[in-house]
Amino acid sequence: MEFDIEGMDCSSCAKSIEKHFRALPWVSHIEVHFASGKMRIAHGGTLEGVLKEIRLLGYQAALSSRTKVGNKKSSVWKNNLMLLSGFFLLWGWISSFFPSTAAYATMLYAVSMVIGGWKPARSAYYAVKNRSLDMNALMVGAAIGAVVIGEWLEGAVVVWLFALGNWLQNRTMERTRNSIRELMDLAPGEAWVKTEQGLVRKPVEKVQVGQVIVIKPGEKIPLDGRVTTGTTSVNQAPITGESIPVDKAVGDEVYAGSVNEEGSIEVEVTRLVQDTALAKIIHLVEEAQEKQAPTQSFMDRFARVYTPIVFGTSVLLTLIPPLLGAGEWKEWLYRGLELLVIACPCALVISTPVAIVSAIGNAAKNGVLIKGGTYLEMAGKLKAIAFDKTGTLTEGKPRVAQIIVPDTDEEKVLSIARTIEEHSRHPIAQAIIEEADRRGIASLGGADHKTLVGKGAQAAVDQRVYYAGNEKLFEEKNVPLDAWKKHLETLQSMGHTPVLVGTDEEILGLIAVSDVIRETSKDTIRRLKQDGIQSVMLTGDQEGTARKIASDAGLDQYHAELLPEEKVQAVKNLQQQGWKVGMVGDGMNDAPALATADLGIAMGGVGTDTAMETADVVLMADNLEQLPFTIRLSRKALTIIKQNIVFSVLVKLAALALIFPNWLTLWIAVMSDTGAALLVILNSMRLLRMR
Ligand code: ADP
Ligand code: MG
Repeated sequence: MEFDIEGMDCSSCAKSIEKHFRALPWVSHIEVHFASGKMRIAHGGTLEGVLKEIRLLGYQAALSSRTKVGNKKSSVWKNNLMLLSGFFLLWGWISSFFPSTAAYATMLYAVSMVIGGWKPARSAYYAVKNRSLDMNALMVGAAIGAVVIGEWLEGAVVVWLFALGNWLQNRTMERTRNSIRELMDLAPGEAWVKTEQGLVRKPVEKVQVGQVIVIKPGEKIPLDGRVTTGTTSVNQAPITGESIPVDKAVGDEVYAGSVNEEGSIEVEVTRLVQDTALAKIIHLVEEAQEKQAPTQSFMDRFARVYTPIVFGTSVLLTLIPPLLGAGEWKEWLYRGLELLVIACPCALVISTPVAIVSAIGNAAKNGVLIKGGTYLEMAGKLKAIAFDKTGTLTEGKPRVAQIIVPDTDEEKVLSIARTIEEHSRHPIAQAIIEEADRRGIASLGGADHKTLVGKGAQAAVDQRVYYAGNEKLFEEKNVPLDAWKKHLETLQSMGHTPVLVGTDEEILGLIAVSDVIRETSKDTIRRLKQDGIQSVMLTGDQEGTARKIASDAGLDQYHAELLPEEKVQAVKNLQQQGWKVGMVGDGMNDAPALATADLGIAMGGVGTDTAMETADVVLMADNLEQLPFTIRLSRKALTIIKQNIVFSVLVKLAALALIFPNWLTLWIAVMSDTGAALLVILNSMRLLRMR
């Protein structure tokens, strides 16, 4: 079961909740994530039972719902408590100035503390019971201590500031967490379904795969499906981040959450509401946000050692000097309490996760799925990006541009080529089959189909083996190529890929295939260059073709005629220069290179589930448009994380330094702590707004 928890202001609260549930016999699994505000639990109890425990701990919980945002009632309630507590505090403070009412002041402070502090006190009680020291425990300890030494005003201010800080932190954290919920609200909850009785409006949960839905111009698409009637142009920006609307005709896929801009279309539903690409994105983003980045797990380990040490030190600080006769015990207790408050490493602990959640949330809204903090950090460190050529830099939809045949006729060469290519999944094969279809040339049947990776393919027709592929393939077979050299060179210098068709004795003909560079690729490469990133093309295609494409696309380097394992080596060579290397590919024959790269990037994620699941970073659109944004966002996230860490450490050190000259007061200590945490959150939220 999954719950949204409200009221956690620091990751130590998440740890306390985990500990509490872990101790319960009927709970078999529990994880609580501060940054996403989620609790996942496996248990043998009742829903009411779980909710009760959470309330007991001083937090609010609601079952996570995939569709609508939960009620906002609880924060209003908290808000009122805080105002009421503040009101009594102020009243007490004013009355302390008048001799006639001064006696009431203490009482009013006490009321203020009870109102503002009963919730943290309850959380603190359970935290201590489970042997953990969280924020609540430290703050409540400080407030009680203040009362013990007779500083009622100070105690009340501590409680109130803590409540105020929590409230502000909660509100800002909710804004961050909501970035995902906004994604959930993208798709409408109802659809017009075509039935025998005409069009019926149904909730999307009730629509089955295979049913036909109607989407009018201007409407949002409610479910994933395939267009069966009509043509239109669809704005997919909400899920893919693409800047230009995409034309859709019969047979094309449309995705839930995108907007139908022009024509009315009928769509056959292909996925249930919980399986749409959008649902998958949301799920993967949530998972990603909960994965810890290296810095983050370091911070958590650090906090685990740091907090008990400071706690111990503050106890010693309270006890030892007075025992040695160095001053009043009151004075040292006060210092001990201050140290206790400073001991909260809250800002430091949340410095990384909040930034990561914000960045991953923003990326998701711009059509980029970053699969975890680790990958976000890596993307910010990249120095070079390797691109597969076919389908990545180019459209990946090659077309036959020209057929050159000296003695035989075009039809024969094309029919042989078609026969060979029918068993290949290479885009080139697709182009040849399409051309044959267009001219009405049928397959010859054939037998013994083989794919020759990085070279071509072969098949037997009438007991004779025929090949289709590049120069390398025929050179290996010692087929004389001299007569073809000139053709090969001119075609390559035009950026075409020549496919030779022949036997192991002679070449029968040549089919030139061309694949255009995507406009978006050129733009992407240019912007990456501005950001100081080397763009490198890796391709199995021939040198001449590669050179032309590389110069057209504005690449820094290219490596041609690579077999899949040589692509791996090319990536390693880049890494040997001390660079962190990313690789963008289709995963078809470059999977090993993708795995070798420090960061594997897939594109066209919205259409292919495997890409979405295996890559580290997924560009939802079928182009590279959002890549420079991803890099800039990741770099900014790294900067912000650094700022957060430096800032929170400095604040702690400053507060620590103020203890001894006796300049620090408890309420300044509290304010420095919650204030620092708040500033860290606000600083991280800048990542939500970056475009
Ligand atoms: P890339 O994806 O970079 O183009 P590949 O390893 O897929 O690299 O292909 C390398 C080269 O091998 C292609 O450019 C083409 O010349 C040749 N080739 C591969 N498969 C085929 C095929 N099915 N038919 C014809 N040529 C092929
Ligand atoms: Mg390829």
